[in-house]
Amino acid sequence: MLDLKAQYVPIKEEIKSAVKDIIESGRFILGENVESFENEMARYHNLSHAVGLASGTDALHLSLKALGITSGDEVITTPFTFIASAEVIAYVGATPVFVDIDSKTLNIDVSKIEEKINEKTKAIIVVHLFGLPADMTVIMKLAEKYNLKIIEDCAQSIGASYKGAHVGSLGDCGCYSFYPSKNLGAYGDGGMMVTDSIELHDRVKLLRNHGTVGPYQHDFIGFNSRLDEIHAAILRIKLRLIDQYNQNRQNIAKLYTSLLGNLLQCPAELDDRTHVYHQYTIRTPLRDKIHDALKTKSIASVVYYPLPLHLQGAFRDLGYKLGDLPESEAASDEVLSIPIYPELEPEKAEYIARTIVEVVNS
Ligand SMILES: *Cc1c(COP(=O)(O)O)cnc(C)c1O
Repeated sequence: MLDLKAQYVPIKEEIKSAVKDIIESGRFILGENVESFENEMARYHNLSHAVGLASGTDALHLSLKALGITSGDEVITTPFTFIASAEVIAYVGATPVFVDIDSKTLNIDVSKIEEKINEKTKAIIVVHLFGLPADMTVIMKLAEKYNLKIIEDCAQSIGASYKGAHVGSLGDCGCYSFYPSKNLGAYGDGGMMVTDSIELHDRVKLLRNHGTVGPYQHDFIGFNSRLDEIHAAILRIKLRLIDQYNQNRQNIAKLYTSLLGNLLQCPAELDDRTHVYHQYTIRTPLRDKIHDALKTKSIASVVYYPLPLHLQGAFRDLGYKLGDLPESEAASDEVLSIPIYPELEPEKAEYIARTIVEVVNS
């Protein structure tokens, strides 16, 4: 689905030198690279704070904890996402409440949120799926009306903007994953929370390091969830290139849509937001045929996501059944993500698209 080597080659010398400097300095945990990268990410978002963490899952988990979400609380999210978006709600003892998706954007259907809000509802985890921002205006209005915390799951959407502002800067906090295949990927696991709230920043910073308030003084139970210096140094180099990477993805997306747009459902492009195409996901009843045809030509394609979260065994105790969230279930049957990454050659993208066109026209 992607070629990480192709991204490495042009920045190889810079990365090697940055990694070598860290090894020679002997400072591997919470040093100057993590701090600088936090400052650079905060600035990129026009926010005051960022905290480097061990993964995107931890960013979501520690944000919920820092916001005081706990057992007995309910947190609304989408069932059409990677499991981490909802798993973290269970980590803090709260209950995930799934709201169905919009069939075109594949993001949470904001017109269906309000009916699920009750006195137990404390937060919404908004996922900007595949790189397309969700309808934040409606979500922020609901947040104000019902006093809800808004956590943006930006794991797939770094650099995407909504009405001119980067995602991650719209809710109470934004959570990032630097898993190697994400638009901004480290060479291992990594994550970050960005926020304008000093309280939230302080709390997550303590949580990531065992609740350490002074040398071997621990005010509360925390975690070991620190971003490594080596990853921070690599990410600093790539952050300078992220807008270019995303632009390349957008160019490929444009090519795909020009060739496929009349034949099947292509990703939604909306006037008030930008899509950064973490995935280019098509939707068609011919999904399985297309997947097979691509496979025959050794072209990768993946179904994100084949089973919505409300039907996963991990959430069986919540009592959802088939038919409860029909748009998510229908999407799972019809979606297919095809290769997209900044270094994908247009000729190759065209070849992939032509293969799909052949299936549709056959
Ligand atoms: C990747 C991802 C996560 C989890 O990030 P990790 O760094 O793998 O823990 C969370 N939410 C979404 C939507 C993701 O795509």
